[in-house]
Amino acid sequence: MAEGRVVPEVDRAAAARKAVERRRARAALKRDLTMRVVSPQTVLARAIADADSVAGSMRITDFLLALPAIGAGKRDRILEELRISPVKRLGGLGARQRVQLQQWLDGRFPQPQPREGRSRLLVLAGPTAVGKGTVAAHIRDHHPDIHLSVSATTRAPRPGEIDGVHYYFVDDAEFDRLIADGELLEHAVVHNRSRYGTPRAPIEAALAEGKTVLLEIDLQGARQVRAAEPSATLIFLLPPSWDELVQRLVGRGTEDQEERARRLRTAKVELAAQSEFDHRIVNDTVADAAREVVELSSGSAR
Ligand code: 5GP
Repeated sequence: MAEGRVVPEVDRAAAARKAVERRRARAALKRDLTMRVVSPQTVLARAIADADSVAGSMRITDFLLALPAIGAGKRDRILEELRISPVKRLGGLGARQRVQLQQWLDGRFPQPQPREGRSRLLVLAGPTAVGKGTVAAHIRDHHPDIHLSVSATTRAPRPGEIDGVHYYFVDDAEFDRLIADGELLEHAVVHNRSRYGTPRAPIEAALAEGKTVLLEIDLQGARQVRAAEPSATLIFLLPPSWDELVQRLVGRGTEDQEERARRLRTAKVELAAQSEFDHRIVNDTVADAAREVVELSSGSAR
């Protein structure tokens, strides 16, 4: 009989380890919510699909508190308004509570609405170290029909970077000249440091040839392109998790600690702007993310 059985030591140790793992996974998911790496609607959907999942085992109080700009006072008011007991877990909500919570989330955290029609001008942005460059390079290597814009920058080349392939490496005076002569479609100072800009002429030429053009630029640049070319398709690349983003930034090893901290601050600000974009793509594997980007182009066969 189960009740009378003494739980063997190994089972207890395994259960304890599992509990620690679950707590860690919940803490990581909370970070993802706070940093907006995952939308609250996605977490709720996961909880509903599987009450035993990490999302399903999260307390409603922790869930709400992890959302951007929700403090304890606001959390309690929301729970009262939605008539949800604070002891509930996300996976244990009643059908009515789920619908009400969903509606509240949609009002507070609007999901991007895919736009009508397709454009041949694709803009790929997203937080630092998310792998925009790798996804763009994958597209360059596998889709020669897509024109990948080569930016001008005032930063120094990294080892292995080739002038004219990865960037046009220019000095400040030359960058000033490009701006003055109207040769840049957009330009911005990135990470408070170097200047980056998109040369206009090659893009216009590629579009005139009927090609799809891909720009891999920062958030400020994406906004400028949207203002100049409202039909452009803006794509936001997301990391699979906040922890993964931090890992990628550290693992890259190309920046010192101060620079990494600066870039993580920028990443947080950039993640907060994702609702301005038409599409969000999670960079789980480079090939899949690249395929999803290509599928958004009007030239792609579907
Ligand atoms: P990195 O120095 O690591 O190559 O790039 C730093 C950041 O500059 C990345 O977020 C990248 O998307 C952005 N960037 C690269 N080229 C351009 C550009 O032409 N315009 C803008 N606005 N940002 C760019």
